[in-house]
Amino acid sequence: MPHPLNAVVTGSTSGIGLGIATAFAAKGYNIMLNGFGDAGEIEAVRAELEDKYGVTALYNGADMTKPEDIRLLIKEAETAFGQVDILVNNAGIQHVARIEEFPEEKFDAIIAVNLVSAFHAIKAAIGGMKARGFGRIVNIASAHGLVASPFKSAYVAAKHGVVGLTKTVALEAAEFGVTCNAICPGYVKTPLVEKQIPDTARERGITEDEVVKDVMLAPQPTKRFIDIEEVAALATFLCSDQAGSITGAALSIDGGWAAH
Ligand code: NAD
Repeated sequence: MPHPLNAVVTGSTSGIGLGIATAFAAKGYNIMLNGFGDAGEIEAVRAELEDKYGVTALYNGADMTKPEDIRLLIKEAETAFGQVDILVNNAGIQHVARIEEFPEEKFDAIIAVNLVSAFHAIKAAIGGMKARGFGRIVNIASAHGLVASPFKSAYVAAKHGVVGLTKTVALEAAEFGVTCNAICPGYVKTPLVEKQIPDTARERGITEDEVVKDVMLAPQPTKRFIDIEEVAALATFLCSDQAGSITGAALSIDGGWAAH
């Protein structure tokens, strides 16, 4: 395992991606941040990771719907760090609507950000990993990569696709010291989840409190949201030497949801 490891985490200006980037920096890994947001806030996060953990933290604002942006993101990380050892495909968006009313451009955007971007990033990064005999690819899928919920056609389709992509890449890369796994979290209280509460309330004709209790936490037997740190710890383990035999897996971290 090279040291220090160099990681690209897509969608790491917020939520789970930021949690993973922070956990990686705490392990001494150099980080390429990516995602949208206020430029000043992103710069503050980047500088804090460097100051607190003594790593190199860079930022590239690639739009994950744009293949050329994604290629340049990986290239910039390879140039700055010398190589990319870890790729976390985390950028994601959501939209909640019944299928008859699902806006076509939203469907396409969800597939582009949540699924197709992972293909482009893996395609760009995996050659170097295979050549060096070490690499870790972690795709942030979802419990919705394994089971469905109504009103989330695009998201469920994208996340099931991510699980399939993960398995295929794992098989192609297994003999080269490169693993590829999917993490399938249940509900984590991030901006992505906060935003869907009012839409779900409208589609189901219930209150926002009922959405949290009866829609989000009801399928999670633990009856609590998953912590960002719990997902980040799993991602960190998957990138360790000890996880070298875990590949092609879709790992649930969902409070028991997928056990139903
Ligand atoms: P979030 O909204 O907090 O973060 C999403 C990140 O993706 C942000 O940094 C955002 O800027 C970035 N992003 C969105 N569109 C982008 C684009 N076109 N180009 C580049 N970056 C873009 O959401 P989150 O909950 O932290 O979600 C992170 C991942 O975890 C997503 O793939 C999501 O589907 C998955 N996930 C989330 C939950 C949950 O309950 N929060 C559960 C399962 C899976």
